[in-house]
Amino acid sequence: MVYDVSIIGSGPAGLSAAIYAKRANLSAIVIEKEYEGTGQIAESGRVDNYLGMPGISGYDLGETFREHAVKFEVEFLEQEVTRIQKEESGQFQMTFSDSSVIESKTVIYAAGASPRRADIPGEKEYVGKGVSYCAICDGSFYRGKKVAVLGGGDTALDDAAYLAGLYVIHRRKEFRGAVVTVEKLKEKENVTFVLEHQVKEITGKAKVTGVALEDGTVIDVDGVFVAFGSVPQTALVKDLVELDPAGYVKADETGETSLAGLYVAGDVRTKKLRQVVTAVSDGANAATAVAEYLK
Ligand code: NAP
Repeated sequence: MVYDVSIIGSGPAGLSAAIYAKRANLSAIVIEKEYEGTGQIAESGRVDNYLGMPGISGYDLGETFREHAVKFEVEFLEQEVTRIQKEESGQFQMTFSDSSVIESKTVIYAAGASPRRADIPGEKEYVGKGVSYCAICDGSFYRGKKVAVLGGGDTALDDAAYLAGLYVIHRRKEFRGAVVTVEKLKEKENVTFVLEHQVKEITGKAKVTGVALEDGTVIDVDGVFVAFGSVPQTALVKDLVELDPAGYVKADETGETSLAGLYVAGDVRTKKLRQVVTAVSDGANAATAVAEYLK
C-alpha cells in the first residue's frame, strides 16, 4: 500500500497533522520511535498557556492529544526511520531500522527537537548519575538535596520553579524566560541566583558532587539540570531540504520545504515561537497543504 502521507513523529505537531489528514480523507500513518510517545510535551510540568486547558500537566495534555488521534482511528507504527528517499516516481520511501520499508506520496516530518548539551567536562560522564535534562522526570530524586539549574530561558525557570533547594546559574544578567516566573523565584527562600557565570565543569565521584564555575568557585550540588534549550532533529532530512544557519528546516506555516512533497511541522521548522499551540497549528496547516498538493 502507498499511503497518501507518512507523518514522522507523534508529538502535538504530528498528531494534529494526523487528525487533519484523516478528516481530509487521506490515508495516513504516524511513525513513532517511542511506544505511544507524545513528544517533548510529556516532560513539561504545568502548562498554563494552552488555550482552554489552564494548569494541565504536559503529560496529560500529550495523552489527551493521543486519545483524540486514537478516537479518529489514526494508524500508528512503532519504528525508527533510518532513511527517507524520494524516488523518481515522486513517491517517498521510508526505511526503518529493521530494514523494512513503507511508501507514501508525501511526508510530514514532525520529529521535534532534543535537549542542547552543555558540552563541558563531566556532563557525559554523569548523565543519569546526577546530570539530567528533564526536571519533571528526575526532580523527585533530589528531594531534600541541592541542585543546580543551568540556563536562563523558560525551561530553566520552570525547572527552577518545580525544584527545591537550588542554584540557578545563568551566563547573563538578564533572563530570556518569563519575568513573572523570575519574580516568583525571587520570592522563594531556597533559590540562589548565580548570574553572569558559566559552569565550566561538572565534578563528581561516581555521582555528581558539584559544579565548577569559570572563576574557580565550586558549588556543591547533588544534581545538575541542563536547560540550554533544544536542537532540531533534522538528521534524516538535512541532505534533502534547505536548513537555516541554526539547523532548522526552512519552511513557512504551510510546512512546505524546498523538496516538493516533503513538509515539516512543529519545532523542526524555522519560526519564532516554539510552543505546543504553534506545533498543533503547524500540523493542521501541513496536512491541509498536503491535501492540496495531492489534488
Ligand atoms: P531557550 O529560550 O533557547 O533558552 C536557553 C537558555 O540556555 C538561554 O538562557 C541561553 O543563554 C542558555 N544557554 C544555551 N546554551 C548555553 C551555553 N552553552 N552556555 C550557557 N548558557 C547557555 O530555550 P528554552 O528555555 O528551552 O525555551 C525554548 C522555547 O520554548 C522558548 O520559546 C520558550 O519560551 C518556550 N518554553 C515555554 C515554556 C512555558 O511557556 N511555560 C516552558 C518551556 C519553554 P542566553 O539567554 O544567554 O542565550
